[in-house]
Order: sequence, then structure tokens, then C-alpha cells
Amino acid sequence: MTDNHFRELRLDGVSRAYGSQNALNDLNLTISGQEFIALLGPSGCGKSTALNCIAGLLPLTGGSIYLDDRRIDTLPPEQRGFGMVFQNYALFPHMSVRKNIGFGLKMHKVPKAEAAKRVDEAVALVQLQEHQHKAPGQLSGGQQQRVAIARAVALHPPLVLMDEPLSNLDAQLRLEMRMEIRRLHQNLGLTTVYVTHDQEEALSMADRLVVLRLGVMQQFGTPEEVYDHPANAYVAGFMGYRNLLELDIVTADAEKVSARGKHIALVGANRESVTTGRAIAAIRPEDFTIGATDGNRIEVTVDIAEYHGRELSVQASTADGLSIYFRTSERVAPGDHVVLGVPAHRVLVFRSDNSIDADVQQTTEDAPAGVGAGGPGTGR
Ligand code: ADP
Ligand code: MG
Repeated sequence: MTDNHFRELRLDGVSRAYGSQNALNDLNLTISGQEFIALLGPSGCGKSTALNCIAGLLPLTGGSIYLDDRRIDTLPPEQRGFGMVFQNYALFPHMSVRKNIGFGLKMHKVPKAEAAKRVDEAVALVQLQEHQHKAPGQLSGGQQQRVAIARAVALHPPLVLMDEPLSNLDAQLRLEMRMEIRRLHQNLGLTTVYVTHDQEEALSMADRLVVLRLGVMQQFGTPEEVYDHPANAYVAGFMGYRNLLELDIVTADAEKVSARGKHIALVGANRESVTTGRAIAAIRPEDFTIGATDGNRIEVTVDIAEYHGRELSVQASTADGLSIYFRTSERVAPGDHVVLGVPAHRVLVFRSDNSIDADVQQTTEDAPAGVGAGGPGTGR
């Protein structure tokens, strides 16, 4: 259905500053036509800034953007003609669903008969036939977001930009809409750039994802690459490595690192060529096994055990109050002493990073029991 296919969208050193603050710093990114790209990161990392720069709603303070061989960052938004979907839907309250969907077509002076056909098609795509003559206020949140999506795709845009489109919806509907957006993307052969702070959403929807931190790209890769091989401790924290333990390096070679804190000693995989000093050991809660005897062992006392159906999600602490998060199908209770095992290849060792210290537990200082910041990620 998209008429304007392109080969690639290229961001070349794209930067955007507000005063002296860099909201987006030297972003280099090449997106292929028909890819689904997620921009992922916590609130304030520059996701919306990046999207608005691509859309043309925000001028760049550095760099350039190309659609194939054409430079587009100098064009106003209407000449780029990208479809936009926002978190708050941004529908016209006084216009019917049909009128909302057709609004952009009218602005672009698409002939009436053609516009009516495209509105019909878009209404059908998002399954709002029964509601097309209602006003947005008469629809549920999910239906309103469908209108916003239909409006964006009715233009047959070369690129669809979505800024946290599901964050106002309840959990069940979010899951349904994820699939629906992915289905539309595929069926219409769209190219989509999708902003989210939800790593699950990004991993499940995107062909490739961009992890941003403080306006700087940390990693660009497929969900498998980013999930299995996070580039640094920050990305690991975002990808479910909830235990980010700052330790002192004892020995390190190209493959392995041995590191220790006050009541903890670990051997892990050297993922960032660390040599001496401090390092961060990243471990997923599900990679611990109670009582495992091979590999690393950590003695902890259970503080909190949350019920999650088949499994418990447990917060425990070492003798000096370092928080350890693990999952287990065993029925542990607060106060229980357990020995956790984790194989060395499931412990990823990264460079220590002063600027994420707030998110990482200090193991050689006294950390109060039960206070574990976890990773920089969300959805804990
Ligand atoms: P995200 O969408 O990832 O939450 P934003 O792109 O909205 O992040 O913001 C990135 C950074 O730029 C934040 O630190 C934010 O406070 C700042 N920022 C965004 N918009 C403005 C603005 N209009 N004026 C000043 N600072 C802004
Ligand atoms: Mg935002």
C-alpha cells in the first residue's frame, strides 16, 4: 500500500542541543526500507528528540539526514510526508473518525474519490468500520489509538514514526496492539521507527533496536544481539541483567575475569576487555540456581519472595547487605539462608562506569540491606 518505497534512511552525525545540553549527540544510523526499528531507553534519553528530528518537527543542531540520496533535514515536515503517531493520539475531538483519518489526505489535496477509498481501506485495516462515524470521545483509548494509526498510514507515507503509542493503554490491550502494529507494518510494507521505554515491547516488535542513553547510542542490533550480547553494563541492565555488581578485579585475561567484593567472589566472561581496577558483573535473576555446585557460589539470606505463578522472584542479600535478585521454583521464605550458583559464562563482566554508579551497587562500601537499585532499565 505504501507508494513511496525507499532503500535507506541515513542519519549522519545527527545532534540536537537545548542550550548547552545535548539531548542527542552524534547519532549515526542507517535504516533499511521496510525495517521496524525501535528506539529504546529510559525517560529523558533523547528518544522523542530523535524522532522529532527525523519528522522535521525539531531542527538539528548538527549533522544531516538522507532518504536515499536526497538530503531531507532541510525540508519542512509536510515535505517529508512521514506518518506520525503520538502517545496522546492527538486526534481532532470535533471530527468523526473518518474525518480524522482523512484529514492529512485533504491537506495533501488528494482527490476526493481517491481519499475516500484510502479512508475506507485504513478504517478496515484497523477494524473500526462500526465506529467510523463516531467522534473520538465516544471511543475507548485503544480505539482512539487505532484511529491515530489509521490516520498515519492512510497517507501511504514512506516512513511511519511512533512515539510511545501504547503507553496510555492497559496491559492486555498493549499486548494486542503490539501485534496489530507489527501486522500492519508487515502487511503494508511500511518502514517504522518506534519509540519506547519498554524493553519487552522493543524486543518483541523490532527487527533491530537502538539503545540510547543520555542522547548517545549505546548499541544497534537485532533483538537477539542486544539481548544476548549487551555492549556494556548499561545495556545489560536494560536487557534484564538486574544484578549489576561493582567489584574489584583480581585477575583478567582476554576471556575471563576474576573479581571480588567483601563477601563475594565471581568469575565471569570478559565482555569489555577489562584489565584492572573496578568492573561490573552483570547477572540475570533467572541464571542463578539454588544449591548448584559448579561455577560461582554466593551465600545470601532471603529478604522478599514475590509469587509469580511457577516461580518466585526473590530479593536476597549477602552478609554485607549487597542485594541479589534471583528467580526460583523452590519455595523459599524470608530469613532462609541459601547458596546460589551461577556458571561463569552467565556472568558478564563490563567496564565500571562512573556515571551509572547510582544504578549499581557498591560492594566495598556499606550498602543498607534491601536497597538495591537494580539496573538502569525499567519494568522491574
Ligand atoms: P525521551 O523521549 O527519551 O524521554 P526527550 O527526547 O524528550 O527524551 O528529551 C531528551 C532530553 O532533552 C531530556 O533531558 C529533556 O529534558 C531535554 N529536552 C527535551 N525537550 C526539551 C526542550 N524543549 N527544552 C529543553 N530541554 C528539552
Ligand atoms: Mg519521549
